[in-house]
Amino acid sequence: MSARILDGKATAALVRDDVRRGAVQLLAERGVQPGLAVVLVGDDPASHVYVKNKDKAAHEVGFAVRTERLPATSTLAELLAVVERLNADASVHGILVQLPLPAHLDASVVIERIDPRKDVDGLHAHNVAALAMGRPGLRPCTPAGCIEILDRHSLPLEGAEVIVIGRSMLVGKPFAFLALERNATVTMAHSRSRDLPALCRRADLVVAAVGRPLMVKGDWIRPGATVLDVGINRLPDGRLVGDVDYAAAVGHAGAITPVPGGIGPMTIAMLLANTLQAARTACR
Ligand code: NDP
Repeated sequence: MSARILDGKATAALVRDDVRRGAVQLLAERGVQPGLAVVLVGDDPASHVYVKNKDKAAHEVGFAVRTERLPATSTLAELLAVVERLNADASVHGILVQLPLPAHLDASVVIERIDPRKDVDGLHAHNVAALAMGRPGLRPCTPAGCIEILDRHSLPLEGAEVIVIGRSMLVGKPFAFLALERNATVTMAHSRSRDLPALCRRADLVVAAVGRPLMVKGDWIRPGATVLDVGINRLPDGRLVGDVDYAAAVGHAGAITPVPGGIGPMTIAMLLANTLQAARTACR
């Protein structure tokens, strides 16, 4: 058996089309163009690539986009002043501070300063609490993208046995809450979990968000299970791979996301969806 490939690029294009239509409607009905501000501190080459991609994607759906570039030597006070300025700017509906920040800047302090209504990364404590409590709010983009790709392929979470490997605030924990919200039975695994292969073999859905190349083996996957591979790892030979041994898992899984071209494109699409949501909320 060979798995159905969950094409993140094609699915993200559908999400972006919906966002583009939503932006046109908001402009026509309320005269509001969704605005996204991306704050980039320093010279990290990977961050520059990510920001360029986000900027391009936001332009393509008709958003007003601006990137605030700050030198790596910026002080916390200087960065917070930029965030405050964007908080006060009514034309900005979403603020994204590109992580990681240079080591001398505490990301948690910066995130807490973003107006929660503009926190399109969904990382502010207010939005984290809203997620945990099942209240409306902005959800983190990567786990929201995982839910979206399942929904768009009619893969239900209701009653499903789910294992989430990795418990970060960025991916693992918020995904677990989102899956619980959909009435899945969720197991959270991490570096101290015992017998990970056995935990995986029970699951209808395996979500790997670890950052360890090819860690999840093919025979850990129950025949027919769904696999979402969030990991992005660069091998010494330059290849980009996920946390799942895709070549082996594809023979066991019922459906699987590739790397690249799986959850990565979904993450950017959900950033756009969050920005549209923030703009709509601001108009109410
Ligand atoms: P973190 O490093 O913050 O978290 C990794 C998690 O994996 C931790 O909870 C850790 O456990 C767990 N872990 C580490 N080793 C093992 C192990 N041997 N067995 C089981 N669990 C283990 O990573 P992130 O959540 O930020 O990112 C995870 C991956 O997803 C990375 O490859 C990252 O690049 C990728 N990513 C991809 C995105 C996308 O758009 N596709 C977006 C964000 C991230 P413990 O808590 O015990 O230390």
